[in-house]
Amino acid sequence: MSRIYAAFEGKRYPFYRDKFSKGRTFYTLIPVSYYAKPKESRLVVVRVENGKKQYKSYLIDIYKGDYRSERLHVAPSRAKINPKNRRRIARERKEAMQIYKTSTPKLYIRKPIVPPLSSKITSPFGTKRVFNGVLKSFHSGTDYRAKTGTPIRSVADGRVVLIKNRFFAGNSVIIDHGQGIYTGYYHLSRFKVHKGEFVQRGQVIGLAGATGRVTGPHLHFTVHVNGMLVDPLQFIDTFNGLFLQPEKI
Ligand SMILES: [Zn+2]
Repeated sequence: MSRIYAAFEGKRYPFYRDKFSKGRTFYTLIPVSYYAKPKESRLVVVRVENGKKQYKSYLIDIYKGDYRSERLHVAPSRAKINPKNRRRIARERKEAMQIYKTSTPKLYIRKPIVPPLSSKITSPFGTKRVFNGVLKSFHSGTDYRAKTGTPIRSVADGRVVLIKNRFFAGNSVIIDHGQGIYTGYYHLSRFKVHKGEFVQRGQVIGLAGATGRVTGPHLHFTVHVNGMLVDPLQFIDTFNGLFLQPEKI
């Protein structure tokens, strides 16, 4: 029996057999944190066979993300969140983290991932948010222009793992695509699926809206990989590369 995994930045990531290349190659999904410092990092591929370990190491460049900065001025009374809502936010965050750190070994994705909408992107992933002069957070997803009632479709096959109205995200759908990949669709006006349901790529999962903490209707779309938020568009491009001829390293 042999086992293979990658070690990177203090974490381990399993390798999966790439069924898109007739199972002849393997891949692993390694996210890089938004807060990672630009540097040269070492990725070690470990193969364990009959209790013996073989190592192969690679140098990986972590580049500085090219993100914009956004200054928001909110009246102090609106920026403040009351204790009841603060508890609600903490509960919702805990529940989401629990979901994202769970990795379903099976990959549900069978075809290239398609973006949830083809409309204009009104705010890209990663924009730094400076509230009243203080760096508070970064934009955690890709915003698409969408009128209330616009059908929102799943970007790939998967299973619905969360259907909920949340404080910031409003009506939210989270889909598990397997192997630690999750997509999120926020601020919906209506749900069209149930928790636990299997959905197909292109299936309508809800209608766009303006629920949660928003200034107007739009779709906020997120991708998590192995517990970490990543740039949705960069992820789609990278993952869809599996459907092309794999590169030899
Ligand atoms: Zn957004």
